Amino acid sequence: MSLSADRDLDSLLAELVMANRILAREEVVDDFGHVSVRDPRDASRFWLSRSRSPEVVSRDDLIRFDLDATPENPGHRKPYLETVLHARIYAVRPDVQCVVHHHARPVLPFTVTHRPLRPVFHMGSVIGAEVPLWDSQDEFGDTNMLIDTIPKADSLARALGPHSCALLKRHGAVCVGASIPEAVFVSIYMKENAELQYAAEALGGPVDYLTPGEITQTGAMLRSERPLRRSWDYRCARAGFGGL
Ligand code: MN
Repeated sequence: MSLSADRDLDSLLAELVMANRILAREEVVDDFGHVSVRDPRDASRFWLSRSRSPEVVSRDDLIRFDLDATPENPGHRKPYLETVLHARIYAVRPDVQCVVHHHARPVLPFTVTHRPLRPVFHMGSVIGAEVPLWDSQDEFGDTNMLIDTIPKADSLARALGPHSCALLKRHGAVCVGASIPEAVFVSIYMKENAELQYAAEALGGPVDYLTPGEITQTGAMLRSERPLRRSWDYRCARAGFGGL
């Protein structure tokens, strides 16, 4: 392993710590929820914190896992019960480099009703035209509702399919991206779109959602380097990492 590859990994893991703090600051995650990144040196491994709230995650909490969620050198550190959720998405989505799982409150109404979550403003385009809704009841009946087994995680990964996010019935959501800034961006704007969609629909009358063409073109534009960098810098500053 070359020194520069080690430096690249160090900076990526520093970015993962920042993503934890950003998602906490933006109230996408709270005491629960988590964010992981695929290992850039080995696509069959990923990094995720031990079971700790994202607000307080630091570099020493990060553990490397394989795609069955087996930890390497965990020591005394206990993984999240839902680590396998990340593992099985990485197993079937080679394009995904970052996974976020959250219970952001504004999205929860869309997991317990039959009202689809749909982009209502340009920044919300990144959630895509269709947000799948996965229900653990369908295959597993009454459970503890955690994604804590490989069969449950595989089922959720199938429901996510090629999409950028999915809703978990009566639970929360998963968001993915080709980079940490992209998955963080999708997560934040999924929450904000849910807030705005709820407000727009509560006003009554027809709602003019984004068209399929607007969703495709705007989503691609927002995933480009300039908007993602600009957003990441802003979110870093708000989370106390300004001037880096
Ligand atoms: Mn959860």
